[in-house]
Amino acid sequence: MGFLSACSTNPATGEQQFTALMPASQEASVGASEHKKIEAQLGPFMTGPVANYVQRIGQKITPHTERKDVQYKFYVLDSPIVNAFAVPGGYVYISRGLLALANSEAEVASVVGHEMAHITARHSAERVSQGAVVGIGAAILSAVVGDPGVSRAAGLGSELYIKSYSRGQENQADELGLRYMSRAGYNPAAVAAFLHSLDRQTKLDAKMAGRNSSDGPNYFSTHPVTADRVSQTSGKAGQYPQQGITGKEAHLKIIDGMIYGDNPKEGFVKNGWFYHPDLGFKFKVPTGFRVTNTPSRVVSSDSRSGSILLFDAAGDKAGRDPATYMIKGWLADKPLKNVENITINGMRAATAAYGGKVQGRNVTIRVVAVEWKKGQFFRFQIAIPTNTLASIVEDLKKTTYSFARLNAAEKKITPPRIDVVTARAGDTLQSFARRMAAGPYREERFLVLNGLRSAADIKAGQRYKIIVE
Ligand SMILES: [Zn+2]
Repeated sequence: MGFLSACSTNPATGEQQFTALMPASQEASVGASEHKKIEAQLGPFMTGPVANYVQRIGQKITPHTERKDVQYKFYVLDSPIVNAFAVPGGYVYISRGLLALANSEAEVASVVGHEMAHITARHSAERVSQGAVVGIGAAILSAVVGDPGVSRAAGLGSELYIKSYSRGQENQADELGLRYMSRAGYNPAAVAAFLHSLDRQTKLDAKMAGRNSSDGPNYFSTHPVTADRVSQTSGKAGQYPQQGITGKEAHLKIIDGMIYGDNPKEGFVKNGWFYHPDLGFKFKVPTGFRVTNTPSRVVSSDSRSGSILLFDAAGDKAGRDPATYMIKGWLADKPLKNVENITINGMRAATAAYGGKVQGRNVTIRVVAVEWKKGQFFRFQIAIPTNTLASIVEDLKKTTYSFARLNAAEKKITPPRIDVVTARAGDTLQSFARRMAAGPYREERFLVLNGLRSAADIKAGQRYKIIVE
């Protein structure tokens, strides 16, 4: 009663909170409706041993949290992006990519505990009250295409945005998460170990992406790993007894054989090609280009030249031929030059070019529309900066001409996976790197994936993750 009625004392933090717009009793129903949106957008969630494993960890931590009014639920997102988040009502989400990066059960517990802390401390409830938790973009365009397969591949749904927490909330979640995981019997040293892995993965991603990074929101944007946060958290973890479960073997056993990288339902890169077995097509990835597969499109970029390739799908209700679709439909407002009818592996297609600017640089935009079937197109848009090496331009052209339907054998192709292997005497960083899937920075990827500082840390008899194609 009185002037403070809009605030409540939080049992986890002991703080007064302004959460008038979301009483604790409403968290469950708000969470349930947010969860439905998340499931529609990012589902289906993973099931089986990997999902059970995360649930077990969550259930082990639950009794050690303060709020008894919350029923926690744990989900694994089938996504390669390293991510974790929570919404009010006890919903905690961890991505497959995060599980791949973690090196022990305790590291996973550190993330689960941190996300649960955002719920106990009501950070998410505060964000909902502020009106910006999970916004689903307005563009529901699947009706345009009318084919659920193409819509899914083209991701003609919408993208999920999750607002960042404040620095103060992050520190608080770190502190509470540490308390929970330690009380649940996990070794708190895992907190710092995982933050280090996150930090190194972020730097490696940035290096591989060059300056044209176009990844969606991930754990690093919602939970920035700053040097300050690492040192603060390590300091706090040091105040706890350095004992408890690490669970390295248990973790490796669970993730052995797990898909690594894109969800195969959305297509994946293997041996330098992008395959989409569900929709039945492939195209060659230009040499040295990095691929980001988002629900709405495939983005491939090259840090050397600054070239960017976008690949997506679209429908044309009018059912026009490729050149007409390009001129009168898709790019009607662009100054197209040299529109040409071509054939790509037996499919009707059109290509054209126009001048433009990308990130302030003059570029030639090469566009290609391939008719998949009447009224359905797969499209390339390639921005090539002036003065790009002829060899790169040639490679990009090869990519568009490599677009093809998959044959029966190719439709059975499987995505890259994690393989857990035991180091033998004489194994080195180079010998492991050679066994890693194709792509740049193999040695560094191996070290980061395994939380190793240098080649000297590799020891015979120890178990390590490699990515196999
Ligand atoms: Zn956080």
